[in-house]
Amino acid sequence: MKVSRVAVWQKTLPLAKPYWLSGGRLKFEALDSTFVRLETDEGLSGWGEGCPWGHTYLPAFGGGIRAAMEVLAPALLGRDPRHIEALNRTMDVALPGHLYAKAPLDTALWDLLGQSTGLPLHALFGGAEGEVVALNSSISTGTPEEMVASIEAARAAGYRTHSAKVGGREPALDIARIDAIEAARQAADFVTYDINRAWTPAVAVEVMNAVSASGWFEQPCETLDQCIQVRRLTRQPIMLDECLQSFQDHLDAWKAGACEGIKVKPNRVGGLTKVKRVRDFGVSVGWRMHIEDVGGTVLADTAALHLALATPEENRLASWLCHPHLADDPMPGQGARNDGGLAELPAVPGLGVTPGPRLAWRVGRRLRLAA
Ligand code: MG
Repeated sequence: MKVSRVAVWQKTLPLAKPYWLSGGRLKFEALDSTFVRLETDEGLSGWGEGCPWGHTYLPAFGGGIRAAMEVLAPALLGRDPRHIEALNRTMDVALPGHLYAKAPLDTALWDLLGQSTGLPLHALFGGAEGEVVALNSSISTGTPEEMVASIEAARAAGYRTHSAKVGGREPALDIARIDAIEAARQAADFVTYDINRAWTPAVAVEVMNAVSASGWFEQPCETLDQCIQVRRLTRQPIMLDECLQSFQDHLDAWKAGACEGIKVKPNRVGGLTKVKRVRDFGVSVGWRMHIEDVGGTVLADTAALHLALATPEENRLASWLCHPHLADDPMPGQGARNDGGLAELPAVPGLGVTPGPRLAWRVGRRLRLAA
C-alpha cells in the first residue's frame, strides 16, 4: 500500500459562545482547523485534524500547519502508510521540530493502519480498559457566580469532573472564584483549577496556600522551572500541560518531581505516535493523565479518546471533548459523544470518524503522487 495523494482543507470553527482562559487574558471566538486526508493506491483513505485552539494558546497556529504541509506531504507520498514509526522519523528529518504540524498527518496514518488491519484505534493502542471514557467539562473564566452556574449546567449534562479556568491578575479574585466553587461543590464533583500559565510563581504560591481546594492545579506558571518552584512551596497536586511539548520536556518534568499528572494531547506533542510514547511513560512513572486533544471537531476528540480508552484506569483522569463548544457540528452523530458524562468509542476499524462530502470546506492545495 502506498500513499498516493494528500488533500488538505481549512475550516473555521466558530465557538457557540466566547471562551476566556488565563483569567480573561485570552479570549477565543473561533478555532482554525486543518483537515488532512491521506489517500492510498488501494482505495483506503485516512483522516486527521490539527486544531491548535487559536494562535494564543500554544506556540502553534493553523497557518503553520498548512505551511508545513508543503514540506511534510511530499515526504509521505509513495510510502507505505502502515510504517508509522518510520514515517514519523521521515517527517522529523524533513522538518525538525514543528511537532503540532505533524499531528494531523500522523492521525491519518493510524486511521489507515486501523482500517487495513480491521482494528479500532484503541485496540492498536493496547486494548480497551473498561467500556467507556469518563468526560470532564471545561469552565470558562468568569465571575465566581458565573463559574458556579457553569458547573451546575455541566453537572446537569452528566459531567462530574470539571476544569475551571482561573488565573487573573488579582489574586483576591481568583481566591474568591475558587472559594465559591469549592463551597458549591457536591460530593461527587471533582474540580481542577487550570491557570493556563497566567500566574507568576509568587501569585501561585499566594493563591494556592490561601484556598482549601481538594483538586489539582494545572499549569500555574509559564515555564517548567517556575512550576517546579511553585511545587516546592505549595501542597496541592500539580498537573502540567502547555509547557510539555517534546518527550524531553516530559522527562525533565519527571526528573524534577514537578507534577503528579499531565495533560496528554496529540496535537500538542506531535500526533498519536508521539503522544502514545508520553502515555506509556506516564503509566511507567505512575502519573495520572487527562487524555484529550487541544481542540477541534469530533474527529480530533475521538482520536485522543481512543488512546484514553486504552489507558489503565488508575492512570486515567477524565477526558474533555471540544466539539460540544462549537457552534456547528460538521460530523453529527459520529465519534465520541457525551452520554451522561461518559463516552463510548467507535468499534469500527480505524478512527471511526469520516467527514462527509456535503461539507462546504475551502479546499487547499492537493498533492498527488507522480505516476
Ligand atoms: Mg490546560
